[in-house]
Amino acid sequence: MLDTIVVGAGIAGLTAARLLHAAGQRVVVLEARDRVGGRMWTDRTAGFSVDRGASWIHGLTDNPLTEIVAELGLDTVEFTVGSFQAGGRPIADHDESRKLMDRAATEQWLADVETADALFQRAIADSGDDETYAEATERTLAETGWGAERADRLRQFFRHRTEEQCGADIEQVAAHALDEDAIDGDEVIFPGGYDAIPHAFAKGLDIRLATTVTAVTRSADGVRVDTDGGSFEAAQVIVTAPLGVLKAGTIAFTPALPDAVAGPIARLGMGAFNKVFLRFPERFWPDGVYAIRRHGRPGVPWHSWYDVSAVSGHPMLLTFAGGDYARAIEQQTDEEIVASVMGSLRDIYGDAAPTPVAHWITRWASDPLALGSYSYVAVGSSHHDHDAMAEPVDGVLHFAGEATYGQEPATVHGALLSGHRAAERVLGAPLPLAGLTGALEPAN
Ligand SMILES: Cc1cc2nc3c(=O)[nH]c(=O)nc-3n(C[C@H](O)[C@H](O)[C@H](O)COP(=O)(O)OP(=O)(O)OC[C@H]3O[C@@H](n4cnc5c(N)ncnc54)[C@H](O)[C@@H]3O)c2cc1C
Repeated sequence: MLDTIVVGAGIAGLTAARLLHAAGQRVVVLEARDRVGGRMWTDRTAGFSVDRGASWIHGLTDNPLTEIVAELGLDTVEFTVGSFQAGGRPIADHDESRKLMDRAATEQWLADVETADALFQRAIADSGDDETYAEATERTLAETGWGAERADRLRQFFRHRTEEQCGADIEQVAAHALDEDAIDGDEVIFPGGYDAIPHAFAKGLDIRLATTVTAVTRSADGVRVDTDGGSFEAAQVIVTAPLGVLKAGTIAFTPALPDAVAGPIARLGMGAFNKVFLRFPERFWPDGVYAIRRHGRPGVPWHSWYDVSAVSGHPMLLTFAGGDYARAIEQQTDEEIVASVMGSLRDIYGDAAPTPVAHWITRWASDPLALGSYSYVAVGSSHHDHDAMAEPVDGVLHFAGEATYGQEPATVHGALLSGHRAAERVLGAPLPLAGLTGALEPAN
């Protein structure tokens, strides 16, 4: 019998499998896709890297990925606007009338965001799980006493913040949802593609690709995991299927999951967040800016474009759709989506914005092995729900993955740390993260 079965070869599953294998366990990883990496997925079909899932390390300070990147010798490019910051790096801010904001206007804008953020923190100090981010935003704006246009610019910014950070509309998100959302240090992206990390972690592991898990049955003796290609037995199992998949119930758990785990799965939200990359024949936006941003109502739905030319070596912009709008565009054709984005860009740049020569568009909510992009604290849930999902069930069933890590949900490093935590619980002993990148001896 195996020691541990790991369901899912994303960063959480691969981290857990690698640590357990290095500790001498017999481990098998079952992955439904024909590739490893899950929501870390680099498309190289055009001859350069396009990260269709995660792109950024959200803060290099005290982040286990920093050392892993150094050990693997991966190239990175500094790009510290990965978390919907208002400033901190040069951004071409365009106001409601499309005018490029001058220095004084930008400074006023940044001061307004700072003021509103401080008031927001005070506004939610006493609120419970049932207040929405939208309600807390309105209370905050009422307190500022600002005029309609000034307040509305902040309102739109706060809306875009939950759409990007949570993949959900501001009315769906709990007021406390972004309490843990701190970025420490610079952010970076990967010219060679982010999925170099899961590919490195996969080396030397027994991974069964194209193997879909359909059922997990636990007993006093251990677990049986049924797949479309046969059954596997082990002493313990770590399930890292995304929250969207768990919510859909496509994996049958027997006996049924206890409320302590089923409750958080039901309460937490699975957000939708999609990327649209556009490659242009030439650059038409100013040099030296990290992003182009359109403020206020004209910035709905498309408001931010990130210059990712340094990754591809070609003039390229990346924009995002989050929340219900991200789900809506999944029903549109690529041509409709590109035309919509170009309409917003041309509203700023006119005919100077040429027709793109290539595009890449993601549809994560329709992907049956993700059913969304990342988890968020929905109204009625709390950060505690993330960690509660990972509490061992009957000592043999463990959940890991970004949705189970309350301190850093929705991130690569949160998923990685959740895999580390699960491996330690399986082994019942602390496991150093150092060595994750080392060569593995074959299993006994
Ligand atoms: C568009 C997008 C942009 C993002 N940007 C960033 C970013 O810039 N920075 C950042 O830190 N994070 C980002 N994230 C989040 C980050 O990608 C995830 O938090 C992280 O990769 C999740 O890893 P995981 O191992 O928990 O899950 P996954 O990577 O989803 O791995 C789970 C695996 O389980 C498999 N699976 C599902 N069902 C079954 C089944 N029944 N049987 C077998 N296998 C199954 C899946 O195929 C998948 O491979 C982004 C995510 C998206 C979608």
